[in-house]
Amino acid sequence: MKGSQSFITRFAPSPNGWLHLGHAYSALTAWQAARQAQGTCLLRIEDIDVGRARDHFVDGIYQDLEWLGLAWDEPVIRQSERFSAYEAALARLREMQLVYPCWATRSEIREAIADKPAPADWPRDPDGAPLYPGLYRDLPDSRRKQLMWEDTGYCWRLDMQKALAQLDAPLDYVEHGSDKNSYQTGDKAVRLPLDPSLFGDVVLARKDVPTSYHLAVVVDDAAQNVTQVTRGADLQAATSVHVLLQKLLGLPQPDYLHHPLVRDTSGRRLSKQAGDSGFRELRQAGMSVNDVMALLPPPFGTAA
Ligand code: GLU
Repeated sequence: MKGSQSFITRFAPSPNGWLHLGHAYSALTAWQAARQAQGTCLLRIEDIDVGRARDHFVDGIYQDLEWLGLAWDEPVIRQSERFSAYEAALARLREMQLVYPCWATRSEIREAIADKPAPADWPRDPDGAPLYPGLYRDLPDSRRKQLMWEDTGYCWRLDMQKALAQLDAPLDYVEHGSDKNSYQTGDKAVRLPLDPSLFGDVVLARKDVPTSYHLAVVVDDAAQNVTQVTRGADLQAATSVHVLLQKLLGLPQPDYLHHPLVRDTSGRRLSKQAGDSGFRELRQAGMSVNDVMALLPPPFGTAA
């Protein structure tokens, strides 16, 4: 969809499975926002998870979106082709001494938490994972260099306390999706506070991939001049980390629209992990676009 460059949003699926109805809802919401603002909706393939991403799922994304009647600009960015851009952003954070290499395995992390005075009360991040207990954060420089030489199997973590100390004001952002009834017409935006410390020392580059979701999404939204990030409410908490990274890297801060998640009839949200069937199955079973739209919540369908 080609429109004014003053409004750019995007749909950014990860090709680790077939798109399900939740993705259809997300894509339709993003394209509708672009249409209402006479702007552009980009498609971005978020395939940094090279162990799980598959080309046939990328083809499936193109086919499913086309079937829904959605069009996008070419070329489509694939994150697996942009590792050098993410490495450059990480290098910048390294120069600022805001990231540190971390060798901790899952079991080391578990054991470090089990050794705390009240392990059961150890805080969890908004995604439910235990906060990183800081192993390898405070190593002397010489020890860190030696370890990096001896063992290249490390990830890079953000030193959250140091990063927050760089800020001159508390973080906030503009949310267009907080009122479920009005976000679809795009007329209500609110400014909400953000607290990235809830995530602790997040991973910005994995052992196996030279980036992480948080870093790649921030670098690409800026590179593509995205003015509104449109995505599901499950990613709303992560916005705090994304806005923090935008500030640290001197990148523009987009607005956000976090839309409600599509749930099945029992109220459970749809997910690839849970094996929810793709909507391609529905269309292959002979359903029309209108039949599939009817299965979605308003404004596209009538589901609760
Ligand atoms: N790639 C992410 C996903 O498929 C979405 C990322 C985003 O919209 O920020 O869940």
